[in-house]
Amino acid sequence: MMRDVREDRSERVDEGVRILPAGAPMLTGKGAVVTGGGRGIGVAVARKLTRAGAAVVVSARSENEIESVAEGLRAAGRTAHAIVCDVTDPESVAAMAARARELLGSVDVVVNNAGIARSAPFLKVSLEQWETVHRVNATGPLLVTQAFLPGMLERGWGRIVNVASVASLIGNPYITAYAASKHALIGMARCLADELAGTGVTVNSVCPSYVDTPMTDANIEKISAKTGRDADAIRQRLEQKQPGGRMITVDEVAHAVMTFMPDDAASLQGAELVIRGGGGAR
Ligand code: NDP
Repeated sequence: MMRDVREDRSERVDEGVRILPAGAPMLTGKGAVVTGGGRGIGVAVARKLTRAGAAVVVSARSENEIESVAEGLRAAGRTAHAIVCDVTDPESVAAMAARARELLGSVDVVVNNAGIARSAPFLKVSLEQWETVHRVNATGPLLVTQAFLPGMLERGWGRIVNVASVASLIGNPYITAYAASKHALIGMARCLADELAGTGVTVNSVCPSYVDTPMTDANIEKISAKTGRDADAIRQRLEQKQPGGRMITVDEVAHAVMTFMPDDAASLQGAELVIRGGGGAR
């Protein structure tokens, strides 16, 4: 039988500060939605959120992947549900939001993680590529955030975290559409952060460089297919180019996401946390 998180709301509020029972994880009684929660970074984020006591909805288009993630979390004793959603489709987002509220009681945490990567030299960026990438990476977070923000504002507490990229802050060859969409995501967060000041709701972004995920595997395969170079050699080259000589792990990104969760993170507003294992990125 599924645990009803509404029964777990054992916190007290004292002069505006939440007082949890001794030893309770910090997100006890909170509901969280992770988009793109079927593989890669989203899975690690869902894992850490549930470990911190949140009841989680993992969402993406591939039902088998999100069902298997939710099942794995439930097998570990956590509260997790899967809801299919295409973040580019307003109706799909509205339906997901309604179902998430039904299942979780309230949605207090949103991690805008769903994203896609495409590459092309500037003159070969098609309108189709530009629009597809922007719809997932920029419009998706707008729709999902708009769906859940009113409830957070009503309750006076919320955490929105965008999984952006170092490509939100710098340019690189051949990733025009991706970098532009990730710059748009950061621009949205900067504006929203100013609007949210003093509301108890925060919006922040994490900006990783190359992370070891299925997205990166797919990119390496594409480069290999295009250039005829060996995929392992391409991976090694990518790793060598990272300041720490390796890719970032999904758990390292999830850890960065979690830094925005505590009550004491209330003044982290509109921040961009770069994760690349070395200084710089701008
Ligand atoms: P993966 O490709 O491994 O996972 C992406 C997730 O997003 C999947 O669950 C996918 O599921 C979902 N998704 C894609 N399109 C949509 C859509 N239209 N609606 C709903 N869900 C969607 O990617 P990563 O884990 O690597 O990336 C996660 C985020 O991190 C992305 O925003 C990415 O840009 C960002 N990032 C990744 C880096 C990397 O090196 N991997 C570096 C910096 C940032 P499905 O296809 O089933 O819908």
